[in-house]
Amino acid sequence: MSDCIFCKIIKGEIPSAKVYEDEKMLVFKDIEPKAAVHLLAVPKTHFKLLSEMDEEKAENVKYMLSKIPQIAEANGCKDGYRLIINQGDDAGQTVFHLHIHILGGENLGW
Ligand code: 5GP
Ligand code: ZN
Repeated sequence: MSDCIFCKIIKGEIPSAKVYEDEKMLVFKDIEPKAAVHLLAVPKTHFKLLSEMDEEKAENVKYMLSKIPQIAEANGCKDGYRLIINQGDDAGQTVFHLHIHILGGENLGW
């Protein structure tokens, strides 16, 4: 999607601190970290909301979840981490390209 920030990051049109990339997903550092380690995992295929989920998109998210543990552990989250998906306005979703927040590198409390 041409006006999507995360699609632009995926295409390299906006710089980002990438920590992992393959043909299906990209993981990069959040620009405003909310924890000592704050990464964003995004599918390379644009979709806006978790509520748009279908079988194909779920396969993509399943693939991302299969990769995240090793990526998190390799990037400062050996003692644990939290995954968050914000869905819609009440959750404070600001970027409408599905993303999984990976938070860790410290004791997070709740
Ligand atoms: P949301 O609130 O939509 O779940 O999370 C969007 C996240 O994207 C926020 O944590 C915000 O800091 C991050 N973000 C927004 N714009 C950029 C950007 O241009 N680069 C990076 N690396 N992160 C961004
Ligand atoms: Zn996008």
